[in-house]
Amino acid sequence: MSKVHVKSGDRVFVLAGDDAGKRGKILEVLPRSGKVIVDGVNIQKKHTRPTQTNPQGGIVEKPGPIDASNVALVCPSCNKPTRVSNVRSESGKLTRQCKRCGKSID
Ligand SMILES: [Zn+2]
Repeated sequence: MSKVHVKSGDRVFVLAGDDAGKRGKILEVLPRSGKVIVDGVNIQKKHTRPTQTNPQGGIVEKPGPIDASNVALVCPSCNKPTRVSNVRSESGKLTRQCKRCGKSID
């Protein structure tokens, strides 16, 4: 079981670190390290060697992992960073519910 409270595709708000205040979409969850990769956050610049497809070489920018505890889920309904509660629906499926507006997030 993963303790990460967000999942791939979620929109999140960054609470701490160099990119605090930014919003982005979760590209990847790394459950083993408890980290997430958020689009546009914690950008790592990597120099690449020239290759056949990219003869110039250059700098590749890609988002690096940040601690999942540093992000808050953004509710798609009220568009604010929020905490969620897990609610079991009548069909027995667990869904996440926004604690601000009470709308289902999944
Ligand atoms: Zn909400």
